[in-house]
Amino acid sequence: MKITAVPSDSHEEIYRVSDADTGLLGFIALHSTQLGPAAGGLRMRLYANEDAALTDVKRLSKGMTYKNAAADLPLGGGKAVIVGDPAKDKTPALLRAFGRAIENLEGRYYTAEDMGMSPADMATLAEETSYVAGLADGAFASGDPSPITARGIFNAIRVTCRHRFGGDDLNGRHVAIQGLGNVGWNLALLLKDAGADLTVTDVDQDRINRAVTEIGATPVALDEIYAVKADVFAPCAIGGILNADTIPALRVSIVAGGANNQLATPEDGAALNDRGILYAPDFVANGGGIINVATEILKIADRPAYVAQKLSALEATMDTILTKAHKNNVSPDAVAVATVAQKMDRAAA
Ligand code: NAD
Repeated sequence: MKITAVPSDSHEEIYRVSDADTGLLGFIALHSTQLGPAAGGLRMRLYANEDAALTDVKRLSKGMTYKNAAADLPLGGGKAVIVGDPAKDKTPALLRAFGRAIENLEGRYYTAEDMGMSPADMATLAEETSYVAGLADGAFASGDPSPITARGIFNAIRVTCRHRFGGDDLNGRHVAIQGLGNVGWNLALLLKDAGADLTVTDVDQDRINRAVTEIGATPVALDEIYAVKADVFAPCAIGGILNADTIPALRVSIVAGGANNQLATPEDGAALNDRGILYAPDFVANGGGIINVATEILKIADRPAYVAQKLSALEATMDTILTKAHKNNVSPDAVAVATVAQKMDRAAA
């Protein structure tokens, strides 16, 4: 296995990891360890080329710095990617080689599950490194973070409703959900319980069918989700979906969901604001998952109490961000980014 440092002006450390025996090619990026060891998941995807993988790991690790800081976790931002098709190229030997690369960083980076990875894969990595979280078994194992991620988004929707409608009762509110995977489905259940009406879409017809039959959701075609007339649009699938094409089509008062990197560009945050649409910054709204993972990294004995306290603090942070954004008539995203910068400046002082 070969580990080569990749020079960077924007990140503390980046490594290219390759292994001829197993066909492994991947990157580990530590954006910042200012607040603690860098933490963020491992993603496996069939990237178009090596540059695309490097760009993704840099962007995602920076996002983790923001997310961890917003959640007031003593963790920095990091991420790892492996180039390949998880269905075809993922082998235990390849994962173990990557585990050795993570171990080589001696705890400056902790990994966890992300796209293309499963709890079983985390267990394979754990054969070679102790710097892995999201395990199903073990003393501090935190398991699947998605239900906690969904709880955090649910809280964010309530906060945005308070700001926009003067109350956070979701009974009768209409929410359009894009993506019914781990996060979207858990969110749909919470919203249904609270009495909300749901319109949903997904690329997977089985997931739509389940939402229709089990919770009475209304299905729409993939592209129609942007123009659904509703109170809230909750993106819970892919990034970059708030852009120059989709923002003019939106017919909602609020955008609050779990997908990472929802805004295609920072200017799209301003565009939402100009249209009078209240946006819950994604890296604040979806921080529940890393809060759950953090209990494993930090070896927290009372996980439910820690998660409850951190989720409540995250809700207060969202509230403060929206209040400031309203007062200064700027986008909540800009305020959230500035809030994180302030937290990091305070830590550095
Ligand atoms: P997932 O893979 O379980 O679910 C994603 C769902 O979106 C799938 O059902 C998929 O079929 C659907 N989908 C894909 N492309 C779509 C499209 N164009 N339109 C509609 N649906 C589409 O993933 P997840 O764990 O639910 O994560 C969803 C999002 O939330 C991702 O952006 C992820 O990075 C982010 N996120 C997840 C967590 C977590 O705890 N799982 C935490 C923070 C952020």
